Amino acid sequence: MFFPPLQQINSEIARDAGVELYVLRLDLMHPWVNGNKWFKLKYNLLEAKEKNFTTLLTFGGAYSNHIYATAAAGNLFGFRTIGVIRGEERLPLNPTLSFAVQQGMQLVYLNRQTYRQRNTPPLQEYLQQRFGEVFIIPEGGSNLNGVRGCTEIVGNAMPTAGYAYAFDHICVACGTATTLAGIALSLDQKQRAIAFPVLKNGAFLAQEIESLLTNYLASGLPAPYSSPADWELICDYHFGGYAKVNDNLLLFSQQFREEHGVPLDYVYTAKMFYGVMDLLQQGFFCRGDSLLLVHTGGLQGNVGIEERSQYAWVKPKTR
Ligand SMILES: *Cc1c(COP(=O)(O)O)cnc(C)c1O
Repeated sequence: MFFPPLQQINSEIARDAGVELYVLRLDLMHPWVNGNKWFKLKYNLLEAKEKNFTTLLTFGGAYSNHIYATAAAGNLFGFRTIGVIRGEERLPLNPTLSFAVQQGMQLVYLNRQTYRQRNTPPLQEYLQQRFGEVFIIPEGGSNLNGVRGCTEIVGNAMPTAGYAYAFDHICVACGTATTLAGIALSLDQKQRAIAFPVLKNGAFLAQEIESLLTNYLASGLPAPYSSPADWELICDYHFGGYAKVNDNLLLFSQQFREEHGVPLDYVYTAKMFYGVMDLLQQGFFCRGDSLLLVHTGGLQGNVGIEERSQYAWVKPKTR
């Protein structure tokens, strides 16, 4: 595991807005186990080890970054892994699932209706009976262990010797908001976390975040501060909903990669980066602000979007 590089983005838009932009490249920590999914897994793996479990079982869709990371991390740290996949089996396996199988993950499929019961005791008991003693990690690694891991993300980008800046705003793409919660708990009171939900109507997440933060602080798990920093949801950049893309987003991603050497994933980070660049042009931030954009990884999932894209130029040339 490498420390994630901190990369400055020299963009005219940021310069015009008088704002400094940095990207924390969690996507570069490890070829397979990276992004926020590594931070969400870390304390789940440690708890499983401590309790002498040898098998991890978790849940996800067919292109899930979490399934991909769990398969690789399990292999790396000596766990058997079982992936419970939403929907029917489709052969040949897509690149995400065939990677998971190469890493030794056993795949099981649940139809969508049964999959929805994944967090209920009856289904969990059924899985325990079928597979023996397994350590169950929720979909996305989204539990309090996941939040705990995410309290360590921004610490990797804190000013080290020679750096005199601190970040005013930490921006992150948001699915379940577990990552946002961990980040908000790790900031000091002058800083602010800004989350960009990738789901339509993401405002409902505000309540989830409040309860995640309350539960975390009540759990006695370690937190650097006794209360979370300010946080904010910006719900305007979902592009139609989860895994939905349009021409603008695809074009933006391609240009951002060419100009700044930062590849973005279409499901999460592209939407957040697009939102930040758009807000910069609207004067949303103050001159002199310094922004940290957390690149949460997820690049492996781009194949799913590229394969069904109607735009030939998005499709990878060789496959
Ligand atoms: C899972 C994921 C997220 C969302 O994380 P949450 O903790 O669910 O909000 C963001 N970015 C990427 C790349 C992801 O894979």
